[in-house]
Amino acid sequence: MALIVQKYGGTSVGTTERIKNVAKRIARFQKEGHQLVIVVSAMTGETNRLIGLAKDIQSSPDPRELDVVVSTGEQVTIGLLSMALMELGLKARSYTGPQVRILTDNTHTKARILKIDEDRIRQDLDEGHVVVVAGFQGVDEAGNITTLGRGGSDTTGVALAAALHADECQIYTDVDGVYTTDPRIVPEARKLDRITFEEMLEMASLGSKVLQIRSVEFAGKYKVKLRVLSSFQEDGEGTLITVEEDSSMEQPIISGIAFNRDEAKLTVLGVPDRPGIAYQILGPIADANLDVDMIIQNVGHDGTTDFSFTVNRSEFDKARGVLEEVKAHIGAREVVGDKGICKVSAVGVGMRSHPGVASKMFRTLAEEGINIQMISTSEIKISVVLDEKYLELAVRVLHKAFELDHAN
Ligand code: ADP
Ligand code: ASP
Ligand code: MG
Repeated sequence: MALIVQKYGGTSVGTTERIKNVAKRIARFQKEGHQLVIVVSAMTGETNRLIGLAKDIQSSPDPRELDVVVSTGEQVTIGLLSMALMELGLKARSYTGPQVRILTDNTHTKARILKIDEDRIRQDLDEGHVVVVAGFQGVDEAGNITTLGRGGSDTTGVALAAALHADECQIYTDVDGVYTTDPRIVPEARKLDRITFEEMLEMASLGSKVLQIRSVEFAGKYKVKLRVLSSFQEDGEGTLITVEEDSSMEQPIISGIAFNRDEAKLTVLGVPDRPGIAYQILGPIADANLDVDMIIQNVGHDGTTDFSFTVNRSEFDKARGVLEEVKAHIGAREVVGDKGICKVSAVGVGMRSHPGVASKMFRTLAEEGINIQMISTSEIKISVVLDEKYLELAVRVLHKAFELDHAN
């Protein structure tokens, strides 16, 4: 008998018919003697609909109240799934995040899980219940409802698996595993049987939304056995996220291509080139709680330099406002911005031992006439910022150039 946490995403519970199918899968696992904790997302499109309602009323919704609104999507699915399980003769009980007491910090709309009370869940499991928990939500110390950021149900699943010392955490979604890149963009993408935590962390942070990055962080930290699988297939091994690099197989140099459209670039032109300038620009940005990704400061000439960085596209206007104030303060010439950019990254632990990945990436893009606006590298990834119109082309040609297409 194993204790398994299963998480079902929005598409997997998108209709009542699909919820009934999920219930049947759960029943099969229970029949095999396993204890099951199920985490569900809101029905597909529901979270967007709720955000839309909020924005109809407040263009920039109050974060506390937005959490009150968007957390309701998951409350519907836990109840429906529990009913579907009961219809199959199973004992089931649903809980919202606050009912479990998934304690988070108070950063509304992107809260972090601090602690989970697992006593009640354990008691239910011991009594033979399937426990169904709402993903994406928790409660802060003061009793306010919080949410964990888009895709946050993955993190609820993994955090529960960690708290309960589950034998495995299974993430059921609409693809049958983690692919070399998003199979919706590159049909030739190949499913990976395994991927290391390190690589998955990079893929997730660079835009592969198949797993929320915090879920991967949690799984790595608490050694949760994590697998991504399809809820639309009867069987299949999915993709296992592993600690070890698989030494029995020859490692590919590049494991995947990730991309992100949600970025925007800001440049401060004619910045006086003197010590402390990066701090004077980025300090106020950090104070405004804005995350900065890539940063480039050009070599100075004539006593001035240009300073560029990228932010999340949804935070562009706010960041620009901050920079306009900074500009006046430091005596810079102009602030310019570009919302039409994207980031494309090649990820692979094999990069450590193989030089030449960057030059191959740049050559491949050059051959297609794609201009690179910014570059950043780490030990196992190379990222470039491009004009958004090249996103799909760049992902496809890089996927091919690094021999990731399944024809290879
Ligand atoms: P869920 O609603 O189940 O959480 P998501 O839409 O959040 O599902 O994540 C699954 C989607 O992630 C897939 O449909 C796919 O388009 C996308 N995706 C992006 N990158 C990858 C990748 N490397 N491998 C698999 N899927 C990916
Ligand atoms: N329903 C939330 C979202 O759409 C959380 C999730 O699906 O993981 O982002
Ligand atoms: Mg998701």
